[in-house]
Amino acid sequence: MTAPQHPYTHPALTAADPELAALVGAEERLQAETLRLIPSENYVSAAVLEASGTVLQNKYSEGYPGRRYYEGQQNIDQVETLAVERAKAVFGVEHANVQPYSGSPANLAVHLAFAEPGDTVMGMALPMGGHLTHGWGVSATGKWFRGVQYGVRHDTGLIDFDEVRELALKERPKVIFCGGTALPRTIDFAAFGEIAREAGAVLVADIAHIAGLVAGGAHPSPVPHVDVISTTTHKTLRGPRGAMLMSREEHAKALDKAVFPGLQGGPHNQTTAAIAVALREASQPSFRDYAHAVVANAKALAEALLARGFDLVSGGTDNHLILMDLTPKQVPGKIAAKALDRAGLVVNYNTVPYDTRKPFDPSGIRIGTPSLTSRGLAPGHMTLVADWIDRGVAAAGKGDEQALAAVRAEVGDLLGAFPAPGLPV
Ligand SMILES: *Cc1c(COP(=O)(O)O)cnc(C)c1O
Repeated sequence: MTAPQHPYTHPALTAADPELAALVGAEERLQAETLRLIPSENYVSAAVLEASGTVLQNKYSEGYPGRRYYEGQQNIDQVETLAVERAKAVFGVEHANVQPYSGSPANLAVHLAFAEPGDTVMGMALPMGGHLTHGWGVSATGKWFRGVQYGVRHDTGLIDFDEVRELALKERPKVIFCGGTALPRTIDFAAFGEIAREAGAVLVADIAHIAGLVAGGAHPSPVPHVDVISTTTHKTLRGPRGAMLMSREEHAKALDKAVFPGLQGGPHNQTTAAIAVALREASQPSFRDYAHAVVANAKALAEALLARGFDLVSGGTDNHLILMDLTPKQVPGKIAAKALDRAGLVVNYNTVPYDTRKPFDPSGIRIGTPSLTSRGLAPGHMTLVADWIDRGVAAAGKGDEQALAAVRAEVGDLLGAFPAPGLPV
């Protein structure tokens, strides 16, 4: 099937490169017509989209506002300053660097700022819900530094702070990361803060997933408890693909030097602009409502899934994310994810803690509510969503393509009434 030409946007692109324009159009339709449940994804606003597609793209500006290596920065300096000031206001921090290209380089910059190659860094193990860049072996952070890793308890699915403390005091890491990619529960920044102080480590809260919840007051802020905050800007924060590092003034210089010239060249000014727009949106009362609605939807969805006999890691959720262990359903995560995709429900397969299967063919799927909440779905819709997931997983087990097509049609019907931000209707 060839993708239909997009009706109204991208006239120049369509004229210059119809092949590429058709792909963009197809992606717009896909994002409009599917229920996007990947917890790290979202829909940015039309304003964020526009800002990220501007001529700011054309400008080189190595350095920081007022201290550049290139001339012609009269506008760019103001753009970056706006983004920085808005970040400081939204998160209540003394310092913000908005230049990291994405979350992974931001975390590498943290390593560069506070550790030497070979030094010990500590983070949550990837298969337990941590991130690659917290010292996991295949990542540069685990190859160039000595990563030691904590996990969650087998019985509760929760972090065991006695274990974290014991490991930190034994290994004396330079840097401790908290936060991750598959953590359905509130992160106890205060508990990590106590341990880091006792161990003499720099504590980094990686709030990539929950930044929007923190900004909107739907997750406690790490600010009083941690030294550095690392975050992406494109997950619950609903900005462009990018990242920020934030801290008290004390660590400002080390972080700035690590980002530039330590790791990067010129900042992506069009992204900086879009981050500024997203932060302005995140400072509005409506964003508080959004953040709380994300959590309310996730809790409602978790309840409805539990009622259908699904096994959820840690028994539920406090945030935007649900990690489902499909072992009792006897359907592997990958097979379920691929079937759900055919049913118009986009999820990702994921390891669960103590997974007995392989990372590329794990036992779980990971879902979340940031995108569907951006479309305006409410807790009342979540029984329907749980039902679709239930039917999709059952159909996956039986290879019942007809059942998947039926779910897909229902998904399309509902989403027709909930247009996605930033997409043509
Ligand atoms: C997404 C994520 C990152 C990495 O961000 P990229 O932009 O994909 O490089 C880092 N840490 C955590 C906890 C994340 O969830």
